[in-house]
Amino acid sequence: MKLFSFDKISEFECIGGKCPDTCCRGWDKILIDPETYAYYQSIEGELGDELRKRIVSKEGEYSYLIMNEKGYCHFLNDNKLCKLVLTFGEDKLCYTCHTYPRKKEVFGDIVFAWLSISCPEAARQLLSKKETLIPDLSDYEGSDLKEEENYDRKLFDIFVTSYANCVGILQERSLSIGERIAVCLLFIYQIDTNIKTGTDVSGLLELFSNVNNLHSLVSQLDPTVDITSKIKLFNLMYKALGKSGFKRFDNLYNLFERFVPYCRNNDMSGVLDKLFTYYSCFKENSLQTELEQILVYCFTHYFFKDYDSKCFMRNISFIIVFLQLYICFVVFSSLESGSLISFEERVSFISLLSRLFEHDETIMDDIYTRLEMFDMNSLNYLLKLTSL
Ligand code: SF4
Repeated sequence: MKLFSFDKISEFECIGGKCPDTCCRGWDKILIDPETYAYYQSIEGELGDELRKRIVSKEGEYSYLIMNEKGYCHFLNDNKLCKLVLTFGEDKLCYTCHTYPRKKEVFGDIVFAWLSISCPEAARQLLSKKETLIPDLSDYEGSDLKEEENYDRKLFDIFVTSYANCVGILQERSLSIGERIAVCLLFIYQIDTNIKTGTDVSGLLELFSNVNNLHSLVSQLDPTVDITSKIKLFNLMYKALGKSGFKRFDNLYNLFERFVPYCRNNDMSGVLDKLFTYYSCFKENSLQTELEQILVYCFTHYFFKDYDSKCFMRNISFIIVFLQLYICFVVFSSLESGSLISFEERVSFISLLSRLFEHDETIMDDIYTRLEMFDMNSLNYLLKLTSL
């Protein structure tokens, strides 16, 4: 098997008490691996009793550590440090807690590894990178993960090549970031159509890997920044996510509640100009680079989800929605404060959003179903969203 990553995940160091948030909150429950479960059962004394009180399990099937009613881990102390680590050491934590935010997932015969940006420190590191991210492909040394069984090799290879093409497009800095995501969308749309009709895709791969062709495609796109389409999306997502139980993510939910009035104003004329000003901030090089890194991250994390159901359009639509929600947060928050919000606030927004989607991947399906329901999954509408 191969290991693919943009990050040196083993080098990540948690900043513990200095973290502006904590990863010990915002989850419903934490999966405990069988080895750690057995260890927790053997702990004596008050802490052992407390642990067993907070674990739900079904013999041979699962065991979870349950959070308190506010979504915090019961073992987090007032200094935002873990009582279990302080008492037993970090290596005694369950696999989930011990490895976070280092993530690995197998698709086909490739282990994809990344640092989850639901961790603010990992998000800060990603958004700080000025150079294009450089992928690394090596042999996978571990024995904990296995190649997928009976997967469609041909389809998987198309996904891998399409993904590599998209990353190449996203890192093509002679185009604006809005143009890059629009071209990725056109590319994936064509791939999706060809796969559904059983047409060969090799010509498309060639067409979309040539920079001159990309520039020529971009010259045919409508450059208008359509803010009302973006506002419509924000409203829809607020309603859709509200039904998906994201109220548990109170920080994030409060943000939606805070910003949604901007989208409900019947007379938007006074607000649109100001919104336009803050959307224009994304034309600045440093913000373009931040968006590029976020998009490359999102493609690595979300592009392969359920690839065997040939979800090309679903996955790219989700990535566009993810990016738009983030941009809306930055724009609305800047509008409120009267100037572009700081780097730290942008890091906090992307990490909050990421946590929501990481926690519950069924949200990807919910979002796409909503887009379909309101005819917002069309190529035209999605292209309007990409304009910046
Ligand atoms: S969110 Fe990241 S930096 Fe913060 S406590 Fe968790 S691992 Fe450490």
